[in-house]
Amino acid sequence: MPIDGSCKWHFQANQELIAASSLSVRNTVITLESLSKEDKRPTIPLGHGDPTAFPGFQTTVAAEDAIVDAVRSAKYSSYCKSLQGLLPARRAVAEYLSRDLPYKLSPDHVFLTAGCKQAIEYITAVLARPNANILLPRPGFPDYNAHAALCHIEIRIFDLLPEKGWEVDLEAVEAVADDNTVAMVIINPGNPCGNVYTRLHLMKVAEAARKLGIIVIADEVYAHLNFGENPFVPMGAFASIAPVVTLGSISKRWLVPGWRIGWLVTNDPNDILRKTGVMSSMRTLYIYSSEPATFIQGALPDILIKTKVEFFAKIIRILRDTAGICYAKIKEIPCFTCPYKPQGAMFMTVKLNLALLEGIHDDTEFCVKLAREESVVVLPGMAVGLKNWLRITYAVEPSALEEGLERIRVFCQRHSKK
Ligand SMILES: *Cc1c(COP(=O)(O)O)cnc(C)c1O
Repeated sequence: MPIDGSCKWHFQANQELIAASSLSVRNTVITLESLSKEDKRPTIPLGHGDPTAFPGFQTTVAAEDAIVDAVRSAKYSSYCKSLQGLLPARRAVAEYLSRDLPYKLSPDHVFLTAGCKQAIEYITAVLARPNANILLPRPGFPDYNAHAALCHIEIRIFDLLPEKGWEVDLEAVEAVADDNTVAMVIINPGNPCGNVYTRLHLMKVAEAARKLGIIVIADEVYAHLNFGENPFVPMGAFASIAPVVTLGSISKRWLVPGWRIGWLVTNDPNDILRKTGVMSSMRTLYIYSSEPATFIQGALPDILIKTKVEFFAKIIRILRDTAGICYAKIKEIPCFTCPYKPQGAMFMTVKLNLALLEGIHDDTEFCVKLAREESVVVLPGMAVGLKNWLRITYAVEPSALEEGLERIRVFCQRHSKK
């Protein structure tokens, strides 16, 4: 206990939280952006996951109108009167997701959350029991690690395989799992790698989960943001093999991460989650937690139904172009290898060949020096569990992206071994 003169204080900060914060995309990006302020040129942000500062990445008027109408209707100023979220909003999510599934979801399967982040928090809390462990991907999304740590769920890591399109190493999954494993997480389309899994691979993931007796938590926050040869297939398509909990939101596809609305959806035609108490536990959690803002829930059906395909098509076109620019330019820089041309989401991961660089010893040092000398922010792989790699965001105005990549090229040239 910390002792301070006259008093012995009996509290201390939660150490798990402090340990978990070492892995954080947000903290790392903020720190790097503050470094780049030393330069006179405008900072080029290629480390973020929120492109809404750029004029090309604005949401659709249909979504804005839905919010205005919901607020003006004066129907949504109260607390949310239904436990998992307003029924019309849950019904709209069930219908939206059912379009891609071989069965129909009901609103009972939908739990509305303040973005996908809160869905991560909730599913982790519900699965926490003494001695439980969870299988998380490397590279991955640090929120899963942080919430598992906070809930005292042991984290077991499995790798994604760069030479196989960042597919899950299923042998590793089986090797690290045991009778206390409760779930595995997959992110598709992938953050940080921009990969999109094939139907066959997703089926193999489901079969592995069935063999191990665990849930698949499918983070599909980038659903439909795919532009390569693999189509987007929801993990829920294989829920008859093993139960799937799908997490998603409108943050990325509609370019409104600040609106904070998402969902946790149970895909479970065999009713395993009800039989094991997961469904009732989820509902109990809602008695004590706060739903997303009621007017956002009120607007959700219109947002999902009235958004025009042209809006989605435009965003996909931009991402396909910027991903292409990024991949082509990265391939020209000798100290980078990129094993995979991104097919979805907003990112690609590139490997640093440190042997070709002078005076740079790891990914963090690379990013710090790059921010200081060139005012370009990219994310060190460490923040997503992958040391000596970088995550580069291409969801950026094309002119800024080209300028940023050119500065990176110049930086690498200046620091390369003579
Ligand atoms: C952005 C992101 C989230 C968080 O989504 P919100 O809806 O903004 O909470 C969750 N998972 C992954 C993989 C993400 O990239």
